[in-house]
Amino acid sequence: MRHRIAVIGGGPAGLTFARVLHRHDHPVTVLERDAAPDARPPGGTLDLHEGLGQLALGKAGLLAEFQALSRPEGQAMRILDVDGTVLRDWQPRPGDRANPEIDRGHLRDLLLGPLDVQWGRGVTEVVPGTRDGVLIRFADGRQETFDLAVGADGAWSRVRPALSSSTPHYTGVTLVETSVDDIDTRHPDLARLIGDGSVAVYGVNRALVAQRNSGGHVKVYAQFRAPLDWHTNLDRHMGLNRRAGLDLADVEAVRSSLLALFDGWAAPVLDFLRHGTAFVHRPLYVLPVSHTWAHVPGVTLLGDAAHLMPPLGVGANLAMLEGAELAGSVAAAAASGPGDLDEAVRAFEEQMWVRAGKWAKITTAGLERLVSPDPTEALALFDEVQPS
Ligand SMILES: Cc1cc2nc3c(=O)[nH]c(=O)nc-3n(C[C@H](O)[C@H](O)[C@H](O)COP(=O)(O)OP(=O)(O)OC[C@H]3O[C@@H](n4cnc5c(N)ncnc54)[C@H](O)[C@@H]3O)c2cc1C
Repeated sequence: MRHRIAVIGGGPAGLTFARVLHRHDHPVTVLERDAAPDARPPGGTLDLHEGLGQLALGKAGLLAEFQALSRPEGQAMRILDVDGTVLRDWQPRPGDRANPEIDRGHLRDLLLGPLDVQWGRGVTEVVPGTRDGVLIRFADGRQETFDLAVGADGAWSRVRPALSSSTPHYTGVTLVETSVDDIDTRHPDLARLIGDGSVAVYGVNRALVAQRNSGGHVKVYAQFRAPLDWHTNLDRHMGLNRRAGLDLADVEAVRSSLLALFDGWAAPVLDFLRHGTAFVHRPLYVLPVSHTWAHVPGVTLLGDAAHLMPPLGVGANLAMLEGAELAGSVAAAAASGPGDLDEAVRAFEEQMWVRAGKWAKITTAGLERLVSPDPTEALALFDEVQPS
């Protein structure tokens, strides 16, 4: 029995789902809006946890390749106060492979492997319950039907409305992301500060995190509490004297505003902003903590589409594990009989909701403490979760 399965979205969730189905010799159609794998920058590094993302890679038969590509030394983490004093300096123990880092682009290529993704196929709508199954409509006006449409299309999912009226809401925290290239040769002082992994600095309602990716590339995240429209009037919304609206596309204006927002922080910390290239504005949105829906035959969600939560190191991990688990269930149902597919999806959803709900609570509470009026809360949080 071969079901007609489509997955919408070729991120960590969709690709893991497809790769595990492929391993079970079950056909799957992967529909991705991007025109090509490298149509946009892949984003920063991801740490994949032993019991989550690595478990998923094991189910895809990719653990050994992951171990060769990943950076266990990237687990190193240094925390500074705003004066630049080192408060904590965690180094991974030899052989520690609990949460190694991998560049997103490397992970994507690893998952892609032999998959035949249909690039440039943006989905606009999914309509369950038609006579021939679930109907998928595309931006180019075409449409196709399947037995199961899996929405792995991220925060602003076009599949989600078929199941739920929930939409993401703003957390009150914004990230502005920038990058520093060739850090070891061009900025050796910053390279020493960041070490092999990450450096994080926590102040009052502000944080700055820099993470090493491979090849001397560093991603820097300036984080702050602010209204969503903070950039429209920096004087009124952020208390920056005599600064009016900010054009987010103007690199030097963004740099100057961030330096003003982080004024008084140690010079080496601010150097991450001084040397940053382009700046990307990322207000953090989340779905309700316990996002569930009444089961609808023929459609389900995975990853951020199902449970967008603050980016505290689990979103991609959960997305991948869900992809692997759903694929395993779909393959098992195919081996049984036609009626079993829907039961398998229903059971998967129940399991996903419990685990994702738990992590959504943890990460929501975590964001409150990491970007907080009391910076000692951030340190306390790390002390609770880091092995001593
Ligand atoms: C700054 C930052 C740092 C993070 N760090 C970590 C970390 O260290 N560890 C971790 O586990 N998580 C981390 N996360 C969270 C992680 O990035 C997400 O949880 C993860 O990417 C979710 O995967 P996904 O496949 O569900 O969605 P996405 O990665 O968003 O992928 C969705 C895919 O669907 C495609 N798509 C969208 N709409 C359509 C459409 N209409 N039709 C067809 N295709 C479509 C998109 O192009 C994309 O390829 C971080 C997030 C941020 C913002």
